[in-house]
Amino acid sequence: MLLPQKHSATGTTIFTVMSALATEYNAINLSQGFPDFPIDEQLGNFLHEATVKGFNQYAPMPGLPILRQAISNDFERRYGVTINPDTEITITPGATYAIYTAFTSILQADDEVIVLEPAYDSYIPNIETNGAKAITVALRAPDFSVDWDAVKAAITPKTKAIIINTPHNPTGAMWNREDWDILASIVRDTNIIILSDEVYEQLVFDGKKHFTVLQHPELRHRSFVLYSFGKVFHNTGWKMGYCIAPPEYTTAFRRIHQFLCFSVNTPAQYALANYLSQPTLPEVSGMMQQKRDYFLKQLAQTPFTIHQPASGSYFQTVSYEQVSDMPDMEFAQWLTKACGVATIPISAFYRNKKDDKLIRFCFAKKEETISEAVERLTKLKVPA
Ligand code: PMP
Ligand code: GLN
Repeated sequence: MLLPQKHSATGTTIFTVMSALATEYNAINLSQGFPDFPIDEQLGNFLHEATVKGFNQYAPMPGLPILRQAISNDFERRYGVTINPDTEITITPGATYAIYTAFTSILQADDEVIVLEPAYDSYIPNIETNGAKAITVALRAPDFSVDWDAVKAAITPKTKAIIINTPHNPTGAMWNREDWDILASIVRDTNIIILSDEVYEQLVFDGKKHFTVLQHPELRHRSFVLYSFGKVFHNTGWKMGYCIAPPEYTTAFRRIHQFLCFSVNTPAQYALANYLSQPTLPEVSGMMQQKRDYFLKQLAQTPFTIHQPASGSYFQTVSYEQVSDMPDMEFAQWLTKACGVATIPISAFYRNKKDDKLIRFCFAKKEETISEAVERLTKLKVPA
């Protein structure tokens, strides 16, 4: 029996491929994005407390009220925006799920969605699984800024949505305020919906500030905004996130969510609600910037070149043009097997596998992990 191909991506996601290769070859895994240091003990304590106190059954479909309230308070405090916890926040099992659900809430056959590439690898398969078409627009190297003329040119009467991501995976680039205003002017007289993937909002460096679409008076009312606790509290394996959207969008989102997953891990929600409600929380950007700086300083001893230090996220994109002319997929696999450091080839973030001889390292690691990895990179011997 021939089963349908629901999307055009072939094979297995690069994150599974490279992490499996890292395990097989006992390599230091700087490929898939996840921290290798422990979570705050207090967060773990709250999780334990939840199970003891009996938070072990289904949570309400939109999420535990205490967690949605804690998120609302957090946004008021950090961004000065008011979010209604009942009508605008839905707790999800991670941001990947939230992105899929947002797309499924709005897309119909033959709709078009604009995707800025390089892009997180789930976007295009999610769009296509819903019968819609991804229209790709390349970001501009070397700073990976948005080519707004190209975005404008990509808009047609079929354009249903645009998905954006700042701080950006894989390049670490960030939008500035002007980008938001240009986007607003482009969509002003259209019904285009925005999906704003802001999972790295709390990992921003060099005194920069993340501007959320929720702060934009015009754009907020047409946006699904997707977040992940994994990136902020170093617990990617908990797979916890949330979607903030205006009431009408949230209703559409929950129409899908209630029959896709219904509700999300209750003890984890309890733990996150209590953790988030503490008077002070550990500051993440400064800690992560130290890791970026340490990684960049160490990497300067190697033949890898950096076109632009990451402004946010926990990824650094690096060129190996001085090292080898292998295609990036081949180079990433070779580096893992022969040098013992796993990385992600940037071509994996392009539908057409565009190869610019760039790879991505995740620096959300203990200092000793970074220094051991870079030591291996300094010794690398590329086959002639
Ligand atoms: N968006 C981007 C840009 C990401 O890098 C990630 C990383 N996993 C996600 C969404 C998904 O996050 P989650 O693990 O919560 O599904
Ligand atoms: N977002 C993470 C990354 O880009 C991994 C997510 C995943 O494994 N799907 O590395």
